[in-house]
Amino acid sequence: MIIILKKEISENIARIKKMFANKKQVLVHQNQVAVVGATATELPREIQVAAEQIIEKTPAAIQSSRLFHPEDIVIKTPHAHISSDSLTIMAGPCSVENRDHIFKMAAVAKQGGATVLRGGAFKPRTSPYSFQGLGEEGLKYLRAAADQNGMDVITEVMDDEHVPLVAEYTDIFQIGARNMQNFSLLKEVGKTKIPVALKRGMSATIDDLLNAAEYIAAGGNQQIMLIERGIRTFDSKYTRNTFDVAAIPVLQQLTPYPIIADPSHAVGRWDLVTPMAAAGIAAGAAGLIVEIHDDPEHAFSDGPQALKPATYLAMTRQAQAIHQLMAE
Ligand code: PEP
Ligand code: MN
Repeated sequence: MIIILKKEISENIARIKKMFANKKQVLVHQNQVAVVGATATELPREIQVAAEQIIEKTPAAIQSSRLFHPEDIVIKTPHAHISSDSLTIMAGPCSVENRDHIFKMAAVAKQGGATVLRGGAFKPRTSPYSFQGLGEEGLKYLRAAADQNGMDVITEVMDDEHVPLVAEYTDIFQIGARNMQNFSLLKEVGKTKIPVALKRGMSATIDDLLNAAEYIAAGGNQQIMLIERGIRTFDSKYTRNTFDVAAIPVLQQLTPYPIIADPSHAVGRWDLVTPMAAAGIAAGAAGLIVEIHDDPEHAFSDGPQALKPATYLAMTRQAQAIHQLMAE
């Protein structure tokens, strides 16, 4: 249940906490108090009277719900302000390949208005024989390339044991689609204060995604953004995944977290990235995460979906224009 208090807020919060101490989980956000698994009949009359509303039917992912946290969560990193009233561009290659390459790609990303540099140093590959990433060496190059261009870093952390290492280099943890329900990893990033970008698993429902986010929030970290990156459906003949564009406004209604569109993984084809980026922004995404490469044919991973620099620059111009239009 969620109790929305209208009177004697701090006194009543203290009362509710005391009442349910060691029995139920009590979560507080401003005048909203969630008591997990309790019903209104358990509340004394004074609290019922002090409530503006008592919501009995609440989603399991309670902290990730707008019922508990009505206002948007804004994520601020040194160079980015991630919220639905602005457009954040995160761009970079799928993998950090070598020092020179990530420096070159960082300059291109920046030129298109990106404030966050992406690049995987630990890669979740479908095959164990594919390139697995440069590891810590890759993190060093990525950090240096971002710093040189006045940008922040987003990079994937694949394993709970790597959280402290990746934390030394990144501004945003990326949790990949294949790890969306890696609960020990979610708990570990939930203990940090570093923003987390959680990708929707390829077979995950919207509620699965929200419950995964709840694991992070339950640890005390609500600096969460959700990434729609396409889901697996029956037809993968022409696109790698199916971009669930409706998930963007649905998530926006349900949750206070900013929603980021990843058109690259959603379609897997560079020629469809620009229209899908446009669709994501028109649907209300707070940002884009896009893969770029100057020589996609020789990319270490995800070459077919990488935008070449000129295409990327044109895409970002269009993206900004659509965002502007939507804001009017
Ligand atoms: C990636 O961002 O390169 C990646 C592996 O994405 P996903 O987890 O969405 O497949
Ligand atoms: Mn990729």
